[in-house]
Amino acid sequence: MLDSAPRVVIVGGGFGGLAAAKALRNTDVRVVLVDRQNHHLFQPLLYQVATSVLSPGQIASPIRNILRRQLNTTVILGEAVGVDIDRRCVFVDSADREGVALNYDYLILATGASHSYFGHDEFARFAPGLKSLADAVSIRNHILRAFEQAEAEEDPKRHRDLLTFVLVGAGPTGVEMAGALAILVRSTLRSEFRRVDPTQARIVLIDMAPRVLGAFAESLSAAARTRLEELGVEVRLGHGVDLIDADGVVVGGERIASKTVIWTAGVAPSPAGKWLKAPTDRAGRVRVQPDLRVPGHPEIFVVGDTASLDQDGRPLAGVAQVAMQQGRYVGRLIRRRILGQSAPPPFRYFDKGTMAVVGKGFAVLQTGRLRLSGFLAWLAWAAVHLEFLAQSSLRVSVFMQWVWLYLTGQRGSRLIVDHHGPSRVDSPSIVFHEPS
Ligand SMILES: Cc1cc2nc3c(=O)[nH]c(=O)nc-3n(C[C@H](O)[C@H](O)[C@H](O)COP(=O)(O)OP(=O)(O)OC[C@H]3O[C@@H](n4cnc5c(N)ncnc54)[C@H](O)[C@@H]3O)c2cc1C
Repeated sequence: MLDSAPRVVIVGGGFGGLAAAKALRNTDVRVVLVDRQNHHLFQPLLYQVATSVLSPGQIASPIRNILRRQLNTTVILGEAVGVDIDRRCVFVDSADREGVALNYDYLILATGASHSYFGHDEFARFAPGLKSLADAVSIRNHILRAFEQAEAEEDPKRHRDLLTFVLVGAGPTGVEMAGALAILVRSTLRSEFRRVDPTQARIVLIDMAPRVLGAFAESLSAAARTRLEELGVEVRLGHGVDLIDADGVVVGGERIASKTVIWTAGVAPSPAGKWLKAPTDRAGRVRVQPDLRVPGHPEIFVVGDTASLDQDGRPLAGVAQVAMQQGRYVGRLIRRRILGQSAPPPFRYFDKGTMAVVGKGFAVLQTGRLRLSGFLAWLAWAAVHLEFLAQSSLRVSVFMQWVWLYLTGQRGSRLIVDHHGPSRVDSPSIVFHEPS
C-alpha cells in the first residue's frame, strides 16, 4: 500500500463502521479504524448476557481480529473527542496520549448512541441502561446478587423488595429482557434456593405508550403482551415513571418498591453533530444528505444510529441493518470516487423485517405484509441472529449454548464477578458502578 494512497478514517467499529471498513477491503486506500473499545459488540444479544444465557465473549470479538486479513486497515484503540473540519483531522485520546490528530482524506463517523433518560439524568444512578458489555455484566451481577441476598435474609418482608425487578421501556430491549428474566427465575433458578422461591419474583414492565413493541403491528404487540403475561410479567402501560430512587419507582402515583430497576427506554446519539457543528434533528442526530455525506462536506459521512435520514417521509430507525447497509454504501461510494467512477444512486434502505423474542421458543416477526408470532418466528429470529454474529466461532458457540439451554434450562454464565470486591444490593450507586 502506497503512503500516498488516500486515508479513510472510520470512527466506530460497531455495525456501521465495520461494514464500511469491510467494503473498502480491496480499495487502494489506507483505512484507520478508531474505537474506544477493542471489540465489536453484537448489541441485540446483550440482554442474554444480562440474564446469564451467554457470556460476554460469546457476543463480542476483538475488532483487530475480525479485520486481521484486511492489510490496508489499521485498528487504533482510542476515543475520538473532536474533529477539525478545516484541517481535516480527528482528535483522539488513547491510554497515554490526549488529542492526537489523525489526518483524513475521507472521514466516516459511526459512533452509535448511548442511553437517554429524557432529561432525567438523575435516574441513571438507580436505573442503569443496557448498552455495553460492562452494563450487561453489571446488571447480571445485580440480578444474581439480589437472589443471594434474599436467600441470606431472615426477614421475609424484605424478600419482596429484593425480588422485584422493574424494567422501564417496553420496546424490543425491555420486552426481550423481561421475557428472559421470567424464564431465568421460573426455570433455571427455581430449584436452587431454600429460603426464597424464585418463581415468586415479581417482574414489572413499564411504558407510557399504550402497547408494548410500539413499532410492530398491533396484532404482534398484543401477542407479545399475552406471552409476557403468561410468563408472569406484569405489564403496566399508559404511564411513564415519575420518579426512580434507591427504593424503587413511582409510576402513575403508585410506588413499586424494588432494588433492581433497569432502564430499557431511550437512546441519544453520540456527539458527532457537535464535533462537526452540522445540522442535527431534534434528538441530536446529524442530518445527512441522501448519499450520507454531511452538507457542504463531500469528504465526511455519518452512518448508523448517529445519522438522521428520512426515507419515504419517515426517519430511518436506529437498527443494526440500517447501520450496516449505510456503512457498506459509504465504503462503496468512496471506492467509486477513488476509481473515478460515477456516483451511486442515493442510499435506499432495504427493510428485511423486524423481530423480537419473548421468552423461550416464542418471537414476533414482521416483514413486508407477513406477520408471524410463535415458534416459527423464534426459529427465524435465531437463524438471523446467528447469521449476523461477527465470526463463525461465535456462531457455533452461541448455537450450542442455545440448544443446551433449550434442552436443559441451564445457562452459560451465572457468575457474579466483582472487580472490586463484593458490593451490596441495597446501595445501587455502588452496585451499578462497574469499570468499563
Ligand atoms: C440492548 C440493545 C438491543 C438491540 N437490539 C437490536 C435488535 O434486536 N435488532 C436491531 O436491528 N438493532 C438492535 N439494536 C440497535 C443496534 O444495535 C444499533 O442500531 C446499531 O448497533 C447501530 O450501529 P452503529 O454502527 O451506528 O453503532 P454501534 O454498533 O453502537 O457502534 C458504535 C461504535 O462506536 C464506538 N464509539 C462511540 N463513540 C466513540 C468515540 N468517541 N470514539 C471512538 N469510538 C467510539 C463504540 O465503542 C462502538 O463500537 C439494539 C441496541 C441495543 C443497545
